[in-house]
Order: sequence, then structure tokens, then C-alpha cells
Amino acid sequence: MPPLPSALQEAATRHLPAALAWLRRMVDCNSFTSNAPGIDAVGRLTADCFAELGFEPEFVPSQHPDHGHHLFLSRPGSSKPILFVTHLDTVFPPEEEARNHFYWCESPDDACIYGPGVVDNKGGTMMIWLTLQILRDLAPDFLAQNHLIIAANAAEEVIGSDFAERTAERCPSGAQAVLVFEGGPVEASIRHHLVIARKGRLEMRIDCFGKGAHAGSNLHLGINAITELAHLLPQVAALTNPDQNLTVNIANIHGGTVLNRVPHHASVELEVRAYDPAILAQAEAHLHALSGLTPGGAQIEVTTFGRTRAWPGGPETSALAATWAKAASECGLETLPTTRGGLSDANYLCALGPTLDGLGPFGDHAHCSETDPASGKRPEFVYPASFIPKATLNALALLNLAK
Ligand SMILES: [Zn+2]
Repeated sequence: MPPLPSALQEAATRHLPAALAWLRRMVDCNSFTSNAPGIDAVGRLTADCFAELGFEPEFVPSQHPDHGHHLFLSRPGSSKPILFVTHLDTVFPPEEEARNHFYWCESPDDACIYGPGVVDNKGGTMMIWLTLQILRDLAPDFLAQNHLIIAANAAEEVIGSDFAERTAERCPSGAQAVLVFEGGPVEASIRHHLVIARKGRLEMRIDCFGKGAHAGSNLHLGINAITELAHLLPQVAALTNPDQNLTVNIANIHGGTVLNRVPHHASVELEVRAYDPAILAQAEAHLHALSGLTPGGAQIEVTTFGRTRAWPGGPETSALAATWAKAASECGLETLPTTRGGLSDANYLCALGPTLDGLGPFGDHAHCSETDPASGKRPEFVYPASFIPKATLNALALLNLAK
């Protein structure tokens, strides 16, 4: 007999104080992406809290020398693994936490807990823990019979693919499911957002090479790189197309030196995002087609210096989302599939198997550390009560998945 939703919920309620105690220890430990000792300390705490669930830790160095170790926790099994994905790092340097007095703070008045990483993504880690705890209590076969891997990225907040490569090495024939525990909002107390697609991203630069000249005596001999580049920018910006969910953001512009020189060089950096890989590729081709000579004689060079693949969702993700929707109906909840423009590890790991994101707790103001009630500034927070229904939902869905 599968466990009743009410029994899972009671178990989640029973384990919540322990989950929050672990969460507090993790939040108290600064783990800004480039604070490698802090990342490693959070990694050890994470390994400790999952040890009681029978997970063996493996610490794997990041490719970047300034980053900490990725953490892989596993329980063996012969089947393809179910992959639980989280990250150890935050976006907050220790000095910023000190400057803004941004530390663990329980606020009974608004039923939330503030703190760096409390939802993004230490709360996600503890959602994995709580989900597996209640399964151990009420459906011990789930842990005994499934190959489970928890993969914790040391440097999710910066772009990089080495974590995905190390993860793929541990799933040589792919994963049964890739479950990403980024936070998930809840509407009207019952409607739990799930993330079923994320945009891909191109990082690009346009260089414009003009011709220098003395601005006082020989202006006519120069080719002004700034004005030549500026002529191009309206058509670059016009590539943004809401019908295609395509955005082009001109992010910075540099050019010229002192007042008495015709500038010989100017450049812009931009990022392009879309859900559909074909639309992203088309936009990239359009931008590269700007290369060559401008009417005024400047040379345009277009470079793509970074790319993150889109996670477009699709039938396998929809099937996973349906498993969660069914579980939600079993416990009186609903799910709402959503898409996001921002990146997560789902972009990098979706090739390993059916992927679903947004399985973490409900919180908000991720990446914010300032408090100022007058201007509405509130730092990152999580609703601790949101752990209980979401862990229940995740546990029921996992049981349906493993059937
Ligand atoms: Zn983040």
C-alpha cells in the first residue's frame, strides 16, 4: 500500500525542525562562489546531513581554481539514477552580508526566514533531504530500490559547464529523471509552480574598427567607430521578438578615448535569449551577418564568446510534469507549469534525461541582501511552512515515477 498523503505530510511536519536546523547551519556559513573554503564547509555539512539517509559523499574539484568542490552524494542501484540537483554557492560576498547585516533571521510576523541562500539554493538542498526523509519513514523501498544521486554544484551562480560534465560522468547511460530543486512559488496557497523550460543564452560582442584622425585638423580623414557602430544598434535591438520569445539586450558600450581624437574603435556586448534553439541560432546568424564594411567604411566584427544551451522542455518534461500534477491532485494541490528566462543547472543537465525544475521551497527576493522597508527593499527569504506541502508533493510524485 502506498503511504497516504496525510501520513507523508505528518512526517514532513515532524522532520521540519531538523531540516531548518541544518538549513540554518548552512546559511550561517558564507558560501559566495569564490569563497572556496566556505563552499567546501557547506559541502561537508551537506554530506553530513545526508549520511543518515545512507548517501556516500564524493568531493570533486571544480575546474576553476578559485571555486570549491562539487559534491556528489549517491546511493547505489543498478537502474539509471534519479538525479537530484542543487548548488552550494550563493551570490553574496561576506563583506556584503556584514554591511547589510544579512544573516539568518526568523520573522514570525511575516512567517518567513531571511538569509543568504535560504531559498537559492540551500533551501533546495533541504527540500531534497526532507523529501527523502519522509520516503524513508513511509516508503523505505523507494530508497532501497532506486539508484539515487544528489549533485551539488560548487559554482552554479557563474556560467560554466564543468559541473555538468562531472555529473554526466556519473550517469554514463543518462538519468531516469533530472530533478532540479530551484525555488518554486506557490499561488493561492495550493498552486505550485513547476519549471518546464528555460531560455538558452548567447553572449556576443560587436567590434567596430574605424580610423583615427586628429579631430581638430583632420576630422574628415577619420572614420568614427562610435557613430558607425551606433548606426547599427537600432537593427540589433529590433531583433527582439516577443512572438518568438526572443530577447536581445545591448548590455554595455565602449568606445573612443580623448576629445581631440576621432575614435578608431568601439564595441558593444549583448546577450540573446530564446527557448527554441532554432530561433536562437537564427538570431545568431543575423548578428554575424552584420560583419563586414559599414557604408561609412568601418569594419564590423561579430564574436560569440559564450553560449548556454536552451532547455526547451518537450514531451519527456511534460510527462514528468504530469506525474507531479497527478501527485498534486492526490494531496489536494495543483501544479502550474511555467517557463523562465533565467538559467539554471537544468540548461546544462537536460541532455541526461527528462528534466523538471522548480522543485524547491517557496521564497523570493533571491540575490537581494538589502533591507529598507521605506523603499520596499527586502532580502532573500523562504517560507518555512512551504517545505511541508512541497515535500509531500515531491514524495508522492517520486513514488509514482518509480512504479
Ligand atoms: Zn541564484
